[in-house]
Amino acid sequence: MKPQNRSTARAGDLQSPPRIVVAPKTATASRRHGIQASTARVCAWAILAGLLVGTASAQTFATNEFLHIQRGELPIILTAPHGGSLAIPGVPKRLGPEGERTSGKFVISQDTRTFELATTTAKRVEELTDRKPYLVASKAHRQYVDPNRPEKEAVENPNAKAVHAAFHGQVREFVDELRKKFPNGALLLDIHGQSAFPDTLIRGTQNGTTVMKMVEKHGVAALTGETSVFGQLAAKGVKVEPPNTPPGTPPEPRGYNGGWIVRTYGSHTTNGVDAIQLEFGGSFRTDAKKREETAKFLAEAIKAYTEKYLAPKP
Ligand SMILES: [Zn+2]
Repeated sequence: MKPQNRSTARAGDLQSPPRIVVAPKTATASRRHGIQASTARVCAWAILAGLLVGTASAQTFATNEFLHIQRGELPIILTAPHGGSLAIPGVPKRLGPEGERTSGKFVISQDTRTFELATTTAKRVEELTDRKPYLVASKAHRQYVDPNRPEKEAVENPNAKAVHAAFHGQVREFVDELRKKFPNGALLLDIHGQSAFPDTLIRGTQNGTTVMKMVEKHGVAALTGETSVFGQLAAKGVKVEPPNTPPGTPPEPRGYNGGWIVRTYGSHTTNGVDAIQLEFGGSFRTDAKKREETAKFLAEAIKAYTEKYLAPKP
C-alpha cells in the first residue's frame, strides 16, 4: 500500500502509463479487455459516476476502461487497487494532501506487478477449483487516482472521481452479492506490494478488526492457523509478518496494517465480509517466474481456506 522509499517510486515510474485514446465502450471492447461480466452494470456505474462529476469539463471516457473485473462463483473476491498503469484523460498527476506533500510521505508509485499477480492468482484459483473468484483490479495508475483511499484523498480532479466511484461501485456490488449468495461467509483479499521488506508478506487486518466475523465464528485459527491463508503460505516457506501470531501480538506493522478497502468492506462493517490486505515484498512479484509461484501458492491457500471455512457444512 505505502512503499516507503524512493527507489520503488522510481521503479513504478519506469512503467510510464500510456495515454489512452478516448473511445466509447462497447461489449466487444469489454471482452477484449478481459471484462467477462457485469458490463451493463459497470456502464450504469460509469453513467452515474459521470453524472456525479457534473462539471463543465465533460468526462469523455468510459470508466470501465479503467477496471478489470470478473464476476465469480466462489465466496472469494480479489481486489488490486495499485497495479494499474493507465493515465486518465485530462487528469494531471496528484500532488497529495498538504500534510503528506510537505512530509514527503505521499506515495503515487505503482505497486509493481500487482495487477498481474491478482489476475494470475484468479486464473490459478479457477484451474484448481473449476470456479472463478470475483476480481476487481484498477487499470488506472495511482498517479491519477488511489482506490485505497477515501474519495477526498484519492482524487484531485473531477474526471478521476468517476474512476474512483466505478471501482468502489463494483466492489460494493460484488460484496453485496457475496453476502447474499454465501451465507457461510466470504473473504476479500486486497493485493498490494510494499518495498520496505522485499522478502516479506505483511498481513493487514487492522489487528483483527476487518476479519471480526471470521474470528468470532472460527477462532483465530482461521486467520493464523495451519489452514488459514497466511498459515498455508508460511508452510510453503513464505515469510509472513506478523508471524502468524494472534491479532495484536505483535501488532501489524504501521503503514501496512489495513487501508481504506479492508476498512470499508471488512466484516466489522454492517454490510461487509472478512477482509485481509496482503502486502507482498518485491521478491514475490517483480520476477515473472517468482510471481507465478506466488500466484500458485496463494491460489492453493485460497482453495484450502474456502473448503475448510466457507464451504456449506453437510
Ligand atoms: Zn498498495
